[in-house]
Amino acid sequence: MAGDTYKDRGVHTRLAHIGNDPHDFFGFIQPPVVHASTVLYPDAATMAGRTQKYTYGTHGTPTTDALASALDALEGSAGTALVPSGLAAVTLPLLAFLSPGDHVLITDSVYRPTRHFADTVLSRMGVEVVYYDPLAGAGIAALMKPNTKVVFTESPASNTFEVQDIPAIAGEAHARGAVVMMDNTWATPLHFRPLDHGVDISIHALTKYPAGHSDVLLGAVSANARCWGQLHATHSALGLCAAPDDTYQVLRGLRTMGVRLERHGRSALEIARWLEGRAGVARVLHPALESFPGHALWKRDFSGTSGIFSIVLAGGGDRQAHAFLDALSIFGLGYSWGGYESLAVYVQLDDRALGAAYEGPVMRLQIGLEDVADLKADLEAALAAAAAAA
Ligand SMILES: *Cc1c(COP(=O)(O)O)cnc(C)c1O
Repeated sequence: MAGDTYKDRGVHTRLAHIGNDPHDFFGFIQPPVVHASTVLYPDAATMAGRTQKYTYGTHGTPTTDALASALDALEGSAGTALVPSGLAAVTLPLLAFLSPGDHVLITDSVYRPTRHFADTVLSRMGVEVVYYDPLAGAGIAALMKPNTKVVFTESPASNTFEVQDIPAIAGEAHARGAVVMMDNTWATPLHFRPLDHGVDISIHALTKYPAGHSDVLLGAVSANARCWGQLHATHSALGLCAAPDDTYQVLRGLRTMGVRLERHGRSALEIARWLEGRAGVARVLHPALESFPGHALWKRDFSGTSGIFSIVLAGGGDRQAHAFLDALSIFGLGYSWGGYESLAVYVQLDDRALGAAYEGPVMRLQIGLEDVADLKADLEAALAAAAAAA
């Protein structure tokens, strides 16, 4: 398999070559984009035995195999299921491993739509959902019950970027027989490999950095050998599959993700440092800043940073937050992130059960590939507008 050949190479070499072998398809660098439902069988015996590699469009094609195998190489996973969105990459493993009467522990700072799924669909299924402090670490043990089947983590957290002690949580969860899942979208497999830290199932919104251009929705769920069978069975049973063109776009995006991420990360950290201590900014929530409470854990476990973080304005409310956003001219106002362009969002934290108190509005910034000086000027104008709205 192409992924294995490059196992010990540097990350940029791997990104350039993993997934598909060009010589499997006449030497063309990219794999074919296979549009398929029906696959033909050469004879009745093969059809009856279903022994050929591809059997039906929902069960995979050379295009989905190329992306799944690239992700397996990056994650160190036994198998990867591709699904139509990042949210589906969250819901699929939860559906695969939870049954009525089970108990699930979910980090309180989880991606908001994950919480919505848990509070609606999982609750209706008769699953008991409990949210835990993202900083619980080994303290998770006290919350576990005999029927705790899944511990769901996301680190750094959506919007507020708390860093979880994943190895400690995984150790306690495994000691009590639970499956550990992690939404690893922030770091991408380049900066954190969950399975190396005790996680069983790693989740990605490929919509973000892997796609990288704000024009594709796709998700991936990568499992270790212990969990792959059950995940794969549920993936097939649900009929969830990834469209060929979207799959291709993400595979294409992966090839340049390393260089994009380097720039996103460098620009974001420079801007985060510049924002720290500026008038009008109470705090900067970025795990790579020495001042950030989760910095030591982040440094221990993560090998790099990405381009999204938040700032806390020094006081004010909706009026200041709206003035900040409306003064931006380069940053777009929009959800999602991971594309080449900068974005800003006014973060709502009212869903948190264990909400931390912040000094003012929390503004999430996705730092794109634009020039840092231009982005700073834009933020300077936004901070001035927020101050003027006071
Ligand atoms: C964006 C995001 C998702 C969902 O991805 P979509 O493709 O937009 O559905 C899931 N988890 C995290 C942490 C995200 O940021």
